[in-house]
Amino acid sequence: MIERYDLVVIGSGPAGEKAAVQAAYFGKRVAIVERHDLTGGVAVTHAGMIPTKTLREAALYVTGFRKRDIYGMSVELHPEQLYSTLRKRTNEVIDTMARAVRQNIDRHRIELIRGQARLAGDGNVIVTTRRGGERELHGRAIIIATGSRPYHPPGIPFDDPDVLDAEDVLEISTAPRSVVVVGGGAIGCEHASIFTALGAQVTLVDRGMRLLSYVDAELSAMLAKTFSAMGMSLRFGRGIEMVERDDEGVRVVLDDATEIRPDKVLVASGRAGNTETLDLDVAGVEVNQRGQIVVDEWFETSASGVYAAGDVIGPPALASTAMEQGRVAACRALGIEFKDKVDPSPPTGVYSIPEIAAVGLTEHAAAERGVPYVVGRGRFEANSRANISGATDGLVKLIFDRSDRTLIGCHILGEAATEAIHVGQAVIKHGETIDYFIETTFNVPTLCEAYKYAAYDGLQRWHETSEATGTRARS
Ligand SMILES: Cc1cc2nc3c(=O)[nH]c(=O)nc-3n(C[C@H](O)[C@H](O)[C@H](O)COP(=O)(O)OP(=O)(O)OC[C@H]3O[C@@H](n4cnc5c(N)ncnc54)[C@H](O)[C@@H]3O)c2cc1C
Repeated sequence: MIERYDLVVIGSGPAGEKAAVQAAYFGKRVAIVERHDLTGGVAVTHAGMIPTKTLREAALYVTGFRKRDIYGMSVELHPEQLYSTLRKRTNEVIDTMARAVRQNIDRHRIELIRGQARLAGDGNVIVTTRRGGERELHGRAIIIATGSRPYHPPGIPFDDPDVLDAEDVLEISTAPRSVVVVGGGAIGCEHASIFTALGAQVTLVDRGMRLLSYVDAELSAMLAKTFSAMGMSLRFGRGIEMVERDDEGVRVVLDDATEIRPDKVLVASGRAGNTETLDLDVAGVEVNQRGQIVVDEWFETSASGVYAAGDVIGPPALASTAMEQGRVAACRALGIEFKDKVDPSPPTGVYSIPEIAAVGLTEHAAAERGVPYVVGRGRFEANSRANISGATDGLVKLIFDRSDRTLIGCHILGEAATEAIHVGQAVIKHGETIDYFIETTFNVPTLCEAYKYAAYDGLQRWHETSEATGTRARS
């Protein structure tokens, strides 16, 4: 018997949950199919977003990392106790957040169907349930939100217990003394800095010449400097020639023949879409060369009535964007006139130690587009709140249009950057100029006060360098 719904969503991660809830909120009959024991997808489970951030917070707390230079002391936990404390805390947060997703699904009277889904064409989805039975669902529309998993580059022995991907890393039970992290993207930077804070000797290897290739080059260089000062070894422009185990343990050979003998290797080389068990061809859903589902601007695939959202359609592969894509896809799929586009300029955040966040154009992008721009910087070393909390590494960097002082880019390195970025985001979104920061009173002491001094600094430069006359920097 075919069970009929307005919308069938495959996957309960950020894209799937929010798509389903959006449709249910408007009175639609919705089913979500989820194959994992927990709801919430990579964001909540499988060592993804929330687990990593919890691990980061717990690591900072139990090691006293932020305060040890100020008070000259740190917390010393036995390594086994340290890792079991971190795992316990992380698991508690995973359970709580997975329950929150489940409750949201229940509250909106969405049917949660446990099992593995595949497409059967004509709006039909077959679910193989845990007990091995099959259920056939029909959706007026279908949203594929099956997410992604770590990409495994060929030749790396992931079956070795000391060779980890971004999902195995939370399973570590003993403190590694040394770790090689392969990949200087967001996940690589986050884990490399967490391991360093936990006292491991970390070597971060990346083929590129800098960390976080999409981040403003100045902040990327500052992050690298901070990582080095924390004791991390950075090897740019280097690839991995070989990872193997011999009598002495794991052996990593770089392409310049350098040999490293770490306790653990973490490979963070991107993500691969979860598409291969979906029978996409049966429904006529096209994928690109990288296996990502191809969608149009409304998230509809090449098969009419079948939509896709989140990591399964490729970059930026962020939970924040996945949620918005899911909501837009649901509205579009069911003709709900509520949300018809995803914010074209979303913020990005990297939860390394220290954090990095950005919105709008980098200096490089502004120059490439031929936008005449001026930069203003407010450094945390002169910020009272940063000094109080002992987190003086960092800055707020504003990029604004020389012709009218409109803010076009905002980049923050340092404590709470991923929170503070939303001030810059609002200013950019509303098309405001840097005068907003000059005219607005900020709480003191706060890190956000750095916005004001970045604006003053920018105004000074604008005055010095622009042909405009009669505007003086105020202080
Ligand atoms: C270590 C790490 C840190 C991250 N940090 C951040 C961060 O700080 N901020 C941020 O915004 N993003 C972060 N992300 C990215 C974020 O987690 C993902 O972008 C987000 O989870 C994608 O959501 P999704 O719904 O597309 O897919 P997923 O979260 O992957 O969920 C997909 C779901 O579909 C289910 N599924 C798959 N196939 C089937 C099937 N055939 N049948 C039934 N169910 C199926 C899976 O079990 C899973 O539950 C991080 C990711 C990682 C790995």
